Amino acid sequence: MSVKISGVKGMNDVLPAQVGRWHELEAVAREVFALYGYREVRTPVVEPHALFARGVGEATDIVSKEMYVFEDKGEDRLALRPEGTAGTVRAFIEHGAYVEGPQKWFYMGPMFRRERPQKGRYRQFHQIGCEAFGVAEPAIDAEQIAMLDDYLSRLGVKATLKLNSVGDPACRPAYLDLLRGYLSAHAAALCGDCRERTQKNPLRVLDCKVPTCQPVLERAPRLAEHLCQGCRDHFEAVQAGLGALGVAFTVEPRLVRGLDYYVRTAYEFTSDALGAQSAVAGGGRYDGLVETLGGPPTPGIGFALGAERLTLILEAMGRPVPAARPEVFLISADAPGAVAVLGLAATLRRAGVACDLDARGGKFARQIRQAERVGARFALVLGGQELAAGEAKLRDMATRAETPVKLADLAAVLSKGR
Ligand code: AMP
Repeated sequence: MSVKISGVKGMNDVLPAQVGRWHELEAVAREVFALYGYREVRTPVVEPHALFARGVGEATDIVSKEMYVFEDKGEDRLALRPEGTAGTVRAFIEHGAYVEGPQKWFYMGPMFRRERPQKGRYRQFHQIGCEAFGVAEPAIDAEQIAMLDDYLSRLGVKATLKLNSVGDPACRPAYLDLLRGYLSAHAAALCGDCRERTQKNPLRVLDCKVPTCQPVLERAPRLAEHLCQGCRDHFEAVQAGLGALGVAFTVEPRLVRGLDYYVRTAYEFTSDALGAQSAVAGGGRYDGLVETLGGPPTPGIGFALGAERLTLILEAMGRPVPAARPEVFLISADAPGAVAVLGLAATLRRAGVACDLDARGGKFARQIRQAERVGARFALVLGGQELAAGEAKLRDMATRAETPVKLADLAAVLSKGR
């Protein structure tokens, strides 16, 4: 008896008809990031559970509710990575990369969170992320944000940049006390989640999207008005840097990163094309993280962008999926032709000309249909007669115009046309 098994809920296949979109996102990322000096790092999808407990934080939803955790044969407690920064920082420390001075790294790959699947939110999703280590100065913040802006523009994606400062250990504690006091005084008007977070993680309350909480949150004390001099100078310098680079942004006083080691710069790119899950990318400065994970004090700033969300935006824009297609489709007219097409295909491929054929052979009509289906630019029919003449007709699949071409010249003719 056969049993049909479906894929895991919230984990998607990318089929060949769609994969061109992914290749485009990844190729443009590699190209743009290289222009800014970022180099790729590849780390495992599985890490010790403790890395995320410490590096992302036990109190976060990601770690406390959404992580896929398992015992490795009863020995180690492991987790599928829910995000890319913790593993990247682990590798940075483990390989002593900090001794070489400032480093700019990027990664791309699958992440796993057991969230409720919906449009733009999946259980396996893909992030493209960048981390810049070793520079505390605001110039790197501006450069990194401008790079992400550059990347999105090259893809033709319009997104809005929101920017904020979340302060640092010098100024945030006093602000958090103020915020807690304010939220407690207005607890009755807040949702259950907000009330719960007021003590543990009050910054996250500012992020709440529940409509009934908004009147209270809009009047909450603003961190930007309670920054210490160092944070204020940094924030102003980042804004000036972005201005000088021609990157448009709006300051969003309620934009936060929920974890303690996030300091100063927080930013997010959002798109109206996405509906409820409007965030395309989020980033921030995390000067305490390398130290928290056992490395020497090292400033850092990074972002992660959601590849699925980018594909949704490009789709909504009506952008065609870039597709690889054969230059020529070889059609066999008879038995000698069926043998010859294989040899001719090999010659063409050696010359770098993409070609295909219907290995089933058979009727002309079926072969030409296959040529249409795979999007070949040209078709060429080969039989005993063409072989004897050393010449065949090259049919342009779009115009149906036929041009005689010497078989010996075919590779040269086709590679010239490219
Ligand atoms: P975060 O690591 O939560 O800051 O997320 C960074 C980016 O990853 C977001 O802006 C989204 O574009 C994307 N992202 C996060 N979670 C998911 C998910 N469950 N499904 C798809 N994309 C996601």
